[in-house]
Amino acid sequence: MRTFSCRCGNPLFFENTHCLACQADVGWCPACRHIVALEPLPGGGYRCTQPGCQTALMKCHNYALENVCNRTVVINQGYADTLCDCCRYNAVIPDLSIEGNRERWAALEAAKRRLFHTLDLLALPHGTVGDAIDVPLSFSFMADALPDQGLWRSTANQEKVYTGHASGHITINVKEADAVERERLRVDMNESHRTLIGHFRHEIGHYYWDLLVKQRDEDACRQVFGHHDQPTYADALEQYYQQGAPGDWPTRFISAYAAMHPWEDFAESFAFYLDMVAVLDTAMHMGLYRTEYDGTLDSMLLAFHQVGMAVNELNRDMGLLDLAPGAVAPAVRDKLAYVHRLVRHAGTHQETR
Ligand SMILES: [Zn+2]
Ligand SMILES: [Zn+2]
Ligand SMILES: [Zn+2]
Ligand SMILES: [Zn+2]
Repeated sequence: MRTFSCRCGNPLFFENTHCLACQADVGWCPACRHIVALEPLPGGGYRCTQPGCQTALMKCHNYALENVCNRTVVINQGYADTLCDCCRYNAVIPDLSIEGNRERWAALEAAKRRLFHTLDLLALPHGTVGDAIDVPLSFSFMADALPDQGLWRSTANQEKVYTGHASGHITINVKEADAVERERLRVDMNESHRTLIGHFRHEIGHYYWDLLVKQRDEDACRQVFGHHDQPTYADALEQYYQQGAPGDWPTRFISAYAAMHPWEDFAESFAFYLDMVAVLDTAMHMGLYRTEYDGTLDSMLLAFHQVGMAVNELNRDMGLLDLAPGAVAPAVRDKLAYVHRLVRHAGTHQETR
């Protein structure tokens, strides 16, 4: 993510809601696509202070009243419910009568805003109910109805909320917004990372399979990822939880979980691709890599490898987890090449930088 600049000259970050130097309210202006200082207008609302923009704005309902957003809506062009271009995708929000859920919701929204920023960098199509899109996208953030007994996987208990995607609808269990709970699950599931933004990037991969691959490009996808009915998803899931990933998964898959089924392989590969796009966007704005990144997959992989090595060492200096895998296996590169082609083809512009 790039950084932004307040009208007072202070740097602003993507998550900011006010400037620490001049105390101005700040937010995302959808007109100029910057985090900007918001100048109050006499009749209510705000003016974007970005030179050359000056658009009249109002805070998103979830910014003004719920304190979980930092986006604005253009006055007169706003959606009827005054939700911003991220919040309007919500179908179910967490039960705010439960202590801690507002903070969990805020963390989920922050991750969702980053997701949409990356999708928009790639000019990937998306829309929600009522928009002109074949598969409307929506999100539900829900909690288990019964207290967790320490068992993550349960087939009998229908009160559990499963993080997942179905026909454009993404559900995320709000406990993923708890750092302690998430780390416990990461260890339980033997994952190298488990993050909120990672969940969003994985589930949106399933969304783009439905939107861009299903009945459009299935044959080509099958040649790279395998046939999604052989075995069926249910059989593959059962086998994965019985036996885990095959020992040679690193030579064929981006993650152990990707070995479960072709749909999960696609979603994990898609998520990794979005990881690379987001990291390289940040690295480019911060001047962090040496190679020429020309928009080809191989130049992306090389740049990501260089940035990843440097950040891995920084993380190890601080005792943190590695950012990036050491090298991408040839079979995994072929899967990423498929995703790259799909994204470039679907993007409404060809420039991904
Ligand atoms: Zn300021
Ligand atoms: Zn603006
Ligand atoms: Zn919002
Ligand atoms: Zn999945």
